[in-house]
Amino acid sequence: MKLLNTAMPSLHVFDTLESEVRSYCRSFPTVFSKAKGYRLWDAAGNEYIDFFAGAGALNYGHNHPSMKQKLLEYLLEDGVTHSLDMATEAKERFLERFRSVILEPRGLSYKVMFPGPTGTNSVESALKLARKATGRSTVIGFTNAFHGMTLGALSVTGNKFKRRGAGIPLHHTVSMPYDGYMGKDSDTLDYLESYLNDSGSGVSLPAAIIVETIQGEGGINEASIGWLQRLEGICRAKNILLIVDDVQMGCGRTGTFFSFEHAGITPDLVCLSKSIGGYGLPMALTLIRPDLDIWEPGEHNGTFRGNNLAFVTAAEALRYWETEHFAQEIAAKGEIVHRFLLQLVAEYPQLRGEVRGRGLMQGIAFSIPGLADEVSKAAFAKGLIMETSGTDSEVAKIMPPLTIDEPGLAKGLDILRQSMREAAAERDTSGMKRESK
Ligand SMILES: *Cc1c(COP(=O)(O)O)cnc(C)c1O
Repeated sequence: MKLLNTAMPSLHVFDTLESEVRSYCRSFPTVFSKAKGYRLWDAAGNEYIDFFAGAGALNYGHNHPSMKQKLLEYLLEDGVTHSLDMATEAKERFLERFRSVILEPRGLSYKVMFPGPTGTNSVESALKLARKATGRSTVIGFTNAFHGMTLGALSVTGNKFKRRGAGIPLHHTVSMPYDGYMGKDSDTLDYLESYLNDSGSGVSLPAAIIVETIQGEGGINEASIGWLQRLEGICRAKNILLIVDDVQMGCGRTGTFFSFEHAGITPDLVCLSKSIGGYGLPMALTLIRPDLDIWEPGEHNGTFRGNNLAFVTAAEALRYWETEHFAQEIAAKGEIVHRFLLQLVAEYPQLRGEVRGRGLMQGIAFSIPGLADEVSKAAFAKGLIMETSGTDSEVAKIMPPLTIDEPGLAKGLDILRQSMREAAAERDTSGMKRESK
């Protein structure tokens, strides 16, 4: 597939007025105007398949019809839009739905906190509460973790470039090796446990350990079920709070509503954002083990914790979780992606790709520097939006909306195959770039 229109819209105002900090518009340099389901269109009429899904904020696709309908009805009725954290009917409905569709069927009794509209707000609130509840200050995070861009979240984030942006030392945290970090034969929790058990290790008993079940930004590194269960056991034995940051992997990305369900663990605190609003509207939740809900009223506050438009679409989005059907669908599509990727890396062995992830959070890690960016760039030119992740952007990340149909999935994967073929044509059998003629 070729783009319809080779004339790309001008990015002039963005290039001259918008801060240098802008990022995704550099990877996908066009001006978007319309979006529906798994597709986006730019101002020149080019069509794109979205394998990025708002970094996980659009699990139900763009402009979902029934969510849009609910939103329009609410707006036309002059439903409350902004309400700080006052009680509104929209929030009431969301809370009741969240309890009946998500919490109760899973036997979970979490209290629900609205920490502010973003994922990093949820992480900040979880860190604060863990410190307050335990009276301890240290929090353990993991290598290659990503938890957000505010200071507390950055302090448990691995990436050097992002940490440096803080401009101050990031204290009161310790980084430990994530599952697989020391190679396949080493259980990194042996290392963690020996630090916690040894009074000479220099690591004091932490308030909490914060973990992602799959590291999305860190390069689609997946923790095994056994590792997650052992981590939970260590936390229980030492009275350390376990925080799962499910901001990106939650809301069905890995196949179940919470990404930790398959491991059978119950975190003390859970961070949710990105797709919880359903429609791409800002919203975040922090789920709290009831006895840990020791906040004083207003102790963590914020003007935009009552995004009623997001509550309306979030309540509607939960329809997907009323039966087992959606989870089965995600598993089936995840299987299609997995088989396709395995075949693809086998077709081009010189590109030395490794398939990672599960559900609709998968990707190919390349050991050749720059290759993932090259493939992503080639894909964009053919009408596929696909991001890279990992410390050195070494992973091509495939995360379409969970609602994508099989023809859409096949079309996107075909563009990926063409982009890989192009990258392979430019390289010899050792993976080195050929001299340009
Ligand atoms: C995106 C993300 C965050 C931060 O969310 P923002 O809404 O960008 O602040 C935190 N944790 C994880 C795992 C994420 O993927």
